[in-house]
Amino acid sequence: MTEVARKPRRFPLSTAIPLALLLLFVFLSIAGPWLWGTDAETSNVAVADQGISSAHWMGTDDLGRDVLARTLVATRSSLVLAVLATIVGGCAGVALGLLSAVSRRLGRLIDGAIGLLLAFPALLLAIFFAVLFGIGSVGSVLAVGAAFAPGFARITQTLTASVISKEYVEASRVLGKRPLYLTFRHILPNIGEPVILYSTIHIGTAVLALSGLSFLGLGVQPPSYDWGRLLNEGLTRIYTNPGVGIAPSIAIVLAGLTFNMVGERLSDILGGRTAAPPKLPSKQRGLDPAPARAETTGTTGELVEVRNLRVVYHTVDGVTTPVRDVSFSIAPGEKVGIVGESGSGKSMTASAVARLIDTPGRVEARTLRFLDADLLGHGTEVDRHLGRNMSVVFQDPGEALNPAIKIGTHLVEPSVIHQREPKPAARRKAIKALGSVAISDPARRFRQHQHELSGGMKQRVCIAIGLMGEARLIIADEPTTALDVTVQRQILRLINDIGEMTGAGLLFISHDIAVVSELCDRILVMYAGFVVEEARTADVFTSPAHPYTAMLLAASPDMDTDKSRQLPTIDGRMPGPGVDLPGCYFAARCPRADVTCTESAPPLRTLAEGHRVACWHPLTGAGAAGDDELTGVEAKI
Ligand code: SF4
Repeated sequence: MTEVARKPRRFPLSTAIPLALLLLFVFLSIAGPWLWGTDAETSNVAVADQGISSAHWMGTDDLGRDVLARTLVATRSSLVLAVLATIVGGCAGVALGLLSAVSRRLGRLIDGAIGLLLAFPALLLAIFFAVLFGIGSVGSVLAVGAAFAPGFARITQTLTASVISKEYVEASRVLGKRPLYLTFRHILPNIGEPVILYSTIHIGTAVLALSGLSFLGLGVQPPSYDWGRLLNEGLTRIYTNPGVGIAPSIAIVLAGLTFNMVGERLSDILGGRTAAPPKLPSKQRGLDPAPARAETTGTTGELVEVRNLRVVYHTVDGVTTPVRDVSFSIAPGEKVGIVGESGSGKSMTASAVARLIDTPGRVEARTLRFLDADLLGHGTEVDRHLGRNMSVVFQDPGEALNPAIKIGTHLVEPSVIHQREPKPAARRKAIKALGSVAISDPARRFRQHQHELSGGMKQRVCIAIGLMGEARLIIADEPTTALDVTVQRQILRLINDIGEMTGAGLLFISHDIAVVSELCDRILVMYAGFVVEEARTADVFTSPAHPYTAMLLAASPDMDTDKSRQLPTIDGRMPGPGVDLPGCYFAARCPRADVTCTESAPPLRTLAEGHRVACWHPLTGAGAAGDDELTGVEAKI
């Protein structure tokens, strides 16, 4: 039998050295006072002020106590105080960071205070706070903790902002969850790891800061002692006996380096997470008269009714309006698509319907209704109503699922919260839902985390979450953009099947008009925050009336597209949400534009039944220009 020699697993020095030093410090903290306590505490004037010798490797102090023994014994107090100061700073900083991230009122105030305190070196702040809190061990721990708090607060703010903007947090908000729940359920589990790594590194800095305070006489007071205190006591004799300075100095530097190295290594091994600034639950407001252009009637007996919807952001740079005046409706079971290029307002429109517009965004409308709920109303009841009856599938399934909790938990929550189902029943329902979106081995997937699934599978999970409630409307915001073509097709088919199976209406958002046409009965084309054309899907393809729709279709390749010719593009750029124009927003890119177009805004008017367009010179229908002009548009694109 051949024995295969196993290559021993290498333990890199970069890990072994900090780990060994950390273990050494832990050992000294625990055993130091027992092993060397007597030598460190017992006075013996017969050997006072001795230099380095074989009996006393670092000499003795003015009472004849062994300096090395005192340094080793001081490990416990030095490290315990450093850990306590880091905990104080960490707790205060994390609390402030979270508060500033989730509190609209206090956010700016705390942010300003953090910025101000971060402008000063931490040690300078620690000295200032030590004077405030009082001299001694407790005062120095509080002082160093207070000096560290702004750093912790800033990193918490940054990390929280990153997590809070994730789609799984948005989804929880749709479920009507309160900020405290979001904090403990989603934010803390996801920022915990980098904050702990940051804390580890700060223990080393705390050792230096506390030693500094003790050295200055502001920290540990006699008869207690830490490394800084030993340095302070030996300072006057450092020229006659360098050992009194060397021993505690080496200990301070070594401890600082050790915790820094441990933190760095942990960071390398575990990785960190990043983040950004705070947001709060959406605030939907009542009607603020919007400049009515025209009414689109859509269908009757609406599941969703939107009239003169505007989304407005008041920023320091002025007012921006990404959704300007949108009206549409969705009948039960109807599939409606919204298409348009990036920035056209399609996702914002869907977010307004799902009550996901964040502050400082403001939603205004004459009517914004889903089933019998007024979406402009306040209170968690409306959110619960949405949680029960609306399902949202986001673009990036990786962002939509909380990496810290299991797939099953995402599915079980809606049933437990909204239908008050017992957990075992919700679990069975969840596994069935996973099976119905064609996920193999659903019981196993139920126990997994999102990183164990492929992109397509994650998106299936998101769709399955929608099946856990009694979704009457599915909002799918670019659900296939992050997926490859094969998986895209599967997901589109799945969304279609789920719609057929449950009878739910669909609001499907995409920049790809071909993808929308595969699913939807009716298409809204959006441009610069307006609906510029609305028609049945077949009519959009056979007789587009708005030049922009025609250009979008020409820019979308199909099986008959001549591959030898360059795909047409639409020249120019769409006006931004901060631009206000008196006329048609498409005029600068439109080959048909004339003075009327640039001077007055075209209303959304009816061309034929179910076909409406906002254009002074539509390509088809009543008021259409001749074929020569249509040819001109096509020639342009
Ligand atoms: S209103 Fe004028 S500028 Fe606007 S799309 Fe129609 S023809 Fe073009």
